[in-house]
Order: sequence, then structure tokens, then C-alpha cells
Amino acid sequence: MAYDPNNIFAKILRGEIPCVKVYEDDHVLAFKDIQPKRNVHVLVIPKGPYEDMTAFAEKATDAEIAAYTRAVAKIARELKVAEKGYRLIANTGADGHQEVPHLHFHILGGEPCGPMIKAKD
Ligand code: AMP
Repeated sequence: MAYDPNNIFAKILRGEIPCVKVYEDDHVLAFKDIQPKRNVHVLVIPKGPYEDMTAFAEKATDAEIAAYTRAVAKIARELKVAEKGYRLIANTGADGHQEVPHLHFHILGGEPCGPMIKAKD
């Protein structure tokens, strides 16, 4: 899958669409999910053009990967979910039900997140 520069998170990064920003550094932006599924629901994205975790792990620089990893933990602390726990989700590709083709981790918490995934019917 080639990176689509017109995906909605690329537009947020370019400032073409607003977001409720919770964190930013040279490599990372985090903002509130527009349809929160828990009391805390924040999306963390790298600023580089990576469609998913596979592309990010294979193509990003060590500095980008370190910054992204550290930012996720720092944001979880700042959101005050680190102590009681939270769920990190990176939906990836079609089977992973990824809707926006720019890597994002969902940080979900502030209340119990329930079982990881429903069993198949
Ligand atoms: P995923 O299914 O993992 O690709 O998740 C995409 C997420 O992006 C969903 O939880 C949406 O609610 C969220 N989303 C879509 N558009 C926006 C937006 N403009 N601002 C914030 N979150 C958004």
C-alpha cells in the first residue's frame, strides 16, 4: 500500500483540518479522537508519511521510532492513564480494520477497556 498524502491525518498534519492537540514534538503529533470510545481516547501519529506499523518499522529512522515510542509513554503519563492502565491499539490494514491509512496508536483509558476482542461468532 503506497502512502496516500490526502488521508485525513496528513491533512491534520498540514493544518488543513483542525484537531484538539494534546502533544507535539519534532516527530510526533497527538490529538483527541473525534469519536471517543472511552473517557480518554487519544490518537498518536508520527509526522512522517507511514501508512501503518509495518511501513514505519521498515522505513522510519531510529530517531523517529525512538521519538514515537517515548511519546506514547509520555502522553499516557500526561493523560494520567499510565498508573491504572490503558489500551494501545494500532489497527493495521484491511483485516485489522484500519480506516485512516496513516499510522496511529489509539490510547484508550480513564475507565476499564473490557476484554481485548470479541471471540468469533
Ligand atoms: P482506525 O479505524 O484505527 O483507522 O481509526 C481511525 C480513527 O480516527 C477513528 O477512531 C476515528 O474516530 C478517528 N478520526 C477520524 N477522523 C478524525 C478527525 N478528523 N479527528 C480526530 N479523529 C478522527
